[in-house]
Amino acid sequence: MTEPAPASRPAKIPIAGPWITEKEIEYVSDAVKTAWYGEANTYQQRFEEAFGNYVSRRHAMALPSATSAIHLALAGLGIGPGDEVIVPDATWIATSAPITYVGATPVFADIEERSWCLTPAALEACTTSRTRAVIVVNLYGGMPDMDTVLAITERRGLAVIEDAAESVGAEYRRRRAGSFGDASVFSFHGSKTLTTGEGGMLLTDDDALYERALVLRDHGRAPGPKQFWNQEIGFKYRMSSLQAALGLAQLERIAELVERKRTIFGWYREGFDGLNGVTLNYAGPMVMNAYWMVTAVIGPEYRIAKEAMMDALGAQGIATRPFFYPLSSLPAYAATPQARAAQERNRVAYSVSARGINLPSALNLTHEQVAFVCDAFRDVLKKRQAA
Ligand SMILES: *Cc1c(COP(=O)(O)O)cnc(C)c1O
Repeated sequence: MTEPAPASRPAKIPIAGPWITEKEIEYVSDAVKTAWYGEANTYQQRFEEAFGNYVSRRHAMALPSATSAIHLALAGLGIGPGDEVIVPDATWIATSAPITYVGATPVFADIEERSWCLTPAALEACTTSRTRAVIVVNLYGGMPDMDTVLAITERRGLAVIEDAAESVGAEYRRRRAGSFGDASVFSFHGSKTLTTGEGGMLLTDDDALYERALVLRDHGRAPGPKQFWNQEIGFKYRMSSLQAALGLAQLERIAELVERKRTIFGWYREGFDGLNGVTLNYAGPMVMNAYWMVTAVIGPEYRIAKEAMMDALGAQGIATRPFFYPLSSLPAYAATPQARAAQERNRVAYSVSARGINLPSALNLTHEQVAFVCDAFRDVLKKRQAA
């Protein structure tokens, strides 16, 4: 396997970043030269078809972001004012913000101690007569207990949107992430495993949902003979050819990109070997974790807040990120009745989030850099214990 080129300025160990080769440069160069006039949509179509095949979905729609994909999924399913949508409390706000865009209400459910994904029992407990859908999140490349989640949603008649933004290459029972539920979304943000700079994808097997999303994403233009004849107010959500060309090149290298993430995780596992009380990303027996972000949760016995660990590593040029703060704790939501209830209820999300950090997971990391991060992390804990 070829190695990614190391960063040109290695002074700081980056948290995230892509692996770009000559193939990507070639495809984007070709797009900027040729993807106009009659060819203006060629790269989007190729990227959509290849991505749909990769996750075994009938329809794939390239979009400007995963946020817009979730927005279209919710709007396309007809979810709106008066409806409740359940999300795990620990995720990026992009999962939940579109619920507000369509006028529905987010409900924050607790996560599991090990997978850090939605707890099926919490989903069940949060379901009311107003619940219409759940957005499950494959956090940091792992997967929830999908069998139990889907059994509940089927029994309760809830729609399922799979937020697979962080999990390209992950599998559950040998089925790829992004193949579950009524619709699924991916993000191709610059920090993600497969990137287009900014970008996203909506996938579904549901013909009606796909047709509806096509109209909604194009300013409410329904197919028909009359040009510029909008049936309703929609949105403008499209991916450019240049982004699609980059995405197609990355997708043709997806096995290599995912393998690299797994290799990097292996280096961390080795570097943390024998260190008690620190938990890394979990993969249950059904799950192949794609390890988008290597994440360490520090046992409460060390009595160190995640921010203190981040500061100590930052002083050594190691970039980290905090485990997502519970959505219900964010100023954007904290005062709402749903958030207040979640603050009382979601013990695991609050406990894990307070003690978790994302470690450098960029695709161009070297084994030596990961060893340096692990040693620095161990030193901080050792000093803690001595103090
Ligand atoms: C990155 C991310 C998104 C949003 O992706 P964008 O492309 O930036 O809109 C959504 N959900 C999760 C879990 C993410 O990590």
